[in-house]
Amino acid sequence: MPRISLAAPPAAGQVPSPRPMSRAHARRFIEALATANPNAETELTYTDPFTLLVSVVLSAQATDASVNKATVGLFAEAPDPQAMAGLGEEGIARHIRSIGLWRAKARNVAALSARLVAEHGGQVPSDRDSLEALPGVGRKTANVVMNVAFGESTMAVDTHIFRIGNRTGLAPGGTPRAVEDQLVARIPADMLRPAHHWLILHGRYVCKARRPECWRCAAAAWCRYPDKQGEPAGKA
Ligand code: SF4
Repeated sequence: MPRISLAAPPAAGQVPSPRPMSRAHARRFIEALATANPNAETELTYTDPFTLLVSVVLSAQATDASVNKATVGLFAEAPDPQAMAGLGEEGIARHIRSIGLWRAKARNVAALSARLVAEHGGQVPSDRDSLEALPGVGRKTANVVMNVAFGESTMAVDTHIFRIGNRTGLAPGGTPRAVEDQLVARIPADMLRPAHHWLILHGRYVCKARRPECWRCAAAAWCRYPDKQGEPAGKA
């Protein structure tokens, strides 16, 4: 499934955002996704905070499957920041040339690994400021690492979550940060951490960009999208 970088606001001509969902309906919406997919988790392959961080950095504008394929060899050769820094930009690039933006990603992974060794004792820090100070790490990547590796209730807004937030009325906003703030405000605190995974997987496989598959959506009763799609003819 394609995994794309943070999306721009909906293009002209798209169905406009519906009215915002109430908090009560937001809870029901998330509960429906949870019931449909209770064991949702990241599809990236990782073994510890460092391999997760590198995988997330590599995943911008690349599929999780393509990242997982590349990191088999990369992590076998360099499983920790010391080894990764030693491998260097060229050595990292050898493993990731099949992934989009590989030059910049190789440079960032080499630099962030060296920074982890020099400033963090070879460990991935768990706080936002330190994570976002690392080369190639922005708010979205920091949110994923804090959520998945350190159990924080953060919400990383990728293209799928940005689309769902606006399309359904769950969290309307013109920027990823605005959607993130709406989600944090509306989703009950006890559901926020797993909601990140429920929403991403829902966007990848059901509430798709071109044509949402509303006819098989577990959360349709709570969704405010005014142009819900019926099942295509011949699929019954
Ligand atoms: S009903 Fe359709 S638009 Fe609404 S969340 Fe489900 S798939 Fe997405």
